[in-house]
Amino acid sequence: MTSPALSLHHLSKRYGPTRAAEDVSLTVGAGETVALLGPSGCGKSTVLRCVAGLERPDAGRVEVGGRDVTGLPPEARHVGLVFQDYALFPHLTVLGNVAYGPRMRGAGRREAEARAREALALVGLEALAGRKPAQLSGGQAQRVALARAVATHSPLLLLDEPLSNLDEQLRARLRSDLRGLFGRVGAGVLLVTHDQREALALAARVAVMRAGRLVQVGPAAEVFARPATAWVAAFLGHANVLPGPGGVARLVPEDAVRLGEGDPCPVTAHQPTDTGAEVTVAHPLGPLTLHLSAREAAGIGGGRLRLSVHEGRVLTLPDDREPG
Ligand code: ADP
Repeated sequence: MTSPALSLHHLSKRYGPTRAAEDVSLTVGAGETVALLGPSGCGKSTVLRCVAGLERPDAGRVEVGGRDVTGLPPEARHVGLVFQDYALFPHLTVLGNVAYGPRMRGAGRREAEARAREALALVGLEALAGRKPAQLSGGQAQRVALARAVATHSPLLLLDEPLSNLDEQLRARLRSDLRGLFGRVGAGVLLVTHDQREALALAARVAVMRAGRLVQVGPAAEVFARPATAWVAAFLGHANVLPGPGGVARLVPEDAVRLGEGDPCPVTAHQPTDTGAEVTVAHPLGPLTLHLSAREAAGIGGGRLRLSVHEGRVLTLPDDREPG
């Protein structure tokens, strides 16, 4: 049986009184992409740095490709790292940048360059091998950084907010590029991000982190459809019910709002109201706020509210009344 690309066992790391990572256990299968998702400061980078060997955990074990690397320095761990700022060497060509990793791991110049060309082909940048980083667009630099990690032939790639320095349009495009690329590379990928859309678009599984702890781990679609706690739901941009005065409608976690023909979206918070309710549900196009009459709000309490949605806008409520 193939060893997982990464196994974390009860990893903990403190900085003084701050518990940056607390009892974190997580597996990334061979060839699997897992997103470590949580708000800023929750400990994602700490976990990543412990895996890369840039930080020593206080407790726990790190295994890469079935090998215990907990006590090893970064260069002996065989992981490929892609930082937020790409950290390309400005004086080296694209080829030189990508060949650097294999060179550092003892490959001869010819072999290192062959591996670099192969990795550049994988990210679709063979033609730019002779350029310097300053002559690249943001998206191209991002792919060079990825090729550099790929060229190390590591079973595990670590990506720290890989799209955070790009503009929104480019991010959207690269999200779909990256997913295909991860498939072709065949390495396990641990992706650190605070962006729910990035996690959903890129990862098969999502590990949600809060204040140093993993609070929910599961297939991406399942985590988004069934957040384990109100906090996870809120972080994912899910339901909020703002109260009107009084109380009839009871929205309980099992309730769902169905958007068009899509899957039901869960409503997690519940607030009684007799005059109406405002409900925010998750939607692939972004959070969507609905204003419901008392009758509609009451209707959700026991069943389903069917809505027609187009590009994030509610077009029809059940009685064809415009929302709000
Ligand atoms: P994230 O990557 O999710 O934004 P980090 O892992 O960077 O979170 O940080 C987790 C917590 O640990 C934060 O409270 C942060 O301030 C603290 N922290 C991170 N690195 C250090 C450090 N070198 N020294 C002291 N505190 C740190």
